[in-house]
Amino acid sequence: MYAKNDLVELSIIDITDEGNGVGKIDGFAVFVPGTAVDDRLRVKLVKIQKNFAYGIVEEILSPSPDRIPVDCRVYRQCGGCSLRHISYQAELQIKQNWVEQHLKRIGGIDAPVLPIIGSPRQDGYRNKAQYPVRMEDGELRLGMFGKRSHRVIPCTDCRLQPSEFESILKTIRDFCLEWKISIYNEEKYSGLLRHVYLRSAQATGEIMVCLVINGVSLPHSGELVDRLRTVCPSVASIVLNRNREKTNVILGQHCQTLWGKDTIADILCGVRVNLSPLSFYQVNREGAEQLYRVAEEFAGLTGRELLLDLYCGAGTIGLSMAHRVRELIGVEIIPQAVENARRNAQENGITNARFLCDDAKGAAASLQREGLTPDVVVLDPPRKGCVPEVLEAVSGMNPDRIVMVSCNSATLARDLAALRTLGYHTVKAQPVDMFPRTTHVECVALMTR
Ligand code: SAH
Repeated sequence: MYAKNDLVELSIIDITDEGNGVGKIDGFAVFVPGTAVDDRLRVKLVKIQKNFAYGIVEEILSPSPDRIPVDCRVYRQCGGCSLRHISYQAELQIKQNWVEQHLKRIGGIDAPVLPIIGSPRQDGYRNKAQYPVRMEDGELRLGMFGKRSHRVIPCTDCRLQPSEFESILKTIRDFCLEWKISIYNEEKYSGLLRHVYLRSAQATGEIMVCLVINGVSLPHSGELVDRLRTVCPSVASIVLNRNREKTNVILGQHCQTLWGKDTIADILCGVRVNLSPLSFYQVNREGAEQLYRVAEEFAGLTGRELLLDLYCGAGTIGLSMAHRVRELIGVEIIPQAVENARRNAQENGITNARFLCDDAKGAAASLQREGLTPDVVVLDPPRKGCVPEVLEAVSGMNPDRIVMVSCNSATLARDLAALRTLGYHTVKAQPVDMFPRTTHVECVALMTR
């Protein structure tokens, strides 16, 4: 009935969790990026499937009241900030709706979803950035990969990142050009510099510069160190990371400190945290403080509990609650993160915590076998959620409460449904926005036996 390149008129009635607007023509769904609910549009159909189509905006006939001007040059190509054209208030409503729909439709969970907590900052909130470095069209490019592509969109002033990152990137770029540093080529698997990875500790101001190389050393690195220290005195650590694998994974396993400290230190919920390049750390520090406060409240701690923190990273969630529990056990698979967690406990004078370097599945099973009976278990898995064995072992330890922290409400819903069959009922869920302007949203859920 419809063909590619047809022009149609429609109104946007919803936003999918990929950030596309949804309009209908004769009951047929059309997905249109960069739109907002109540936009009236003329849309060109660009891809037609059996039951739906993709379109692009040809003309805005009447704009949605949620629209705001887009203040980024590369918004269209980059695709990171899919919601940058929408007011933050409307964005929060959209995210609230996603979490509610996921819990209900995927998990069949009908627990109350509390009103979403917004991020204190909507720009400059990130503390970490990974920039691919490539030679493209005869030009040295540093920026981000485009939407579904491996072409680099030059961008050194992303609005989500701290402003100090820009001068660091320019310094590295100039250094590479002047000293003719070879640049990584993905197809040929040749060249040296692959990625620039920057992390800032907002509470102390310390910045870590990590250069990911396809090799063992960086020529003239002393010169680069001098320049970085001059340009940005907040730089506290300069690290080389070796990644010689043919992979999209950014970091390799080996780190060598070129100058300064091996870690940088931030302060999160009053806990001083040391961070290695390889340790996970929440990208929005102020958002994470809000998130952890919710998790702590849900955990209902009285000082008598044994708390198990699975997927603990550098130990941050558990350590922020350590003063309110009897004992804390953290489990994390990355050795450097576990090392950070142990040192973080020590430096904060926390003596009731221990950390195990293990896979959550194996650790949960062996702790269950040992007869461990935690009162509260915090689970904060990566986006893919928990494997069933982890949930089985956790429920087998019979904790009173499980607090699940998740950056993917779809896998959260699946895991909550699995825990229901294991005897745990979801009491409530609290969305927390840690990733303004993007399609990501964090959520904390409380389950009781
Ligand atoms: N709770 C921490 C980290 C959450 S991110 C925080 O708030 O900062 C998820 C963590 O799970 C990462 O540190 C990752 O390294 C770890 N991880 C991933 N797979 C794992 C597994 N199978 N077993 C244990 N930890 C795992």
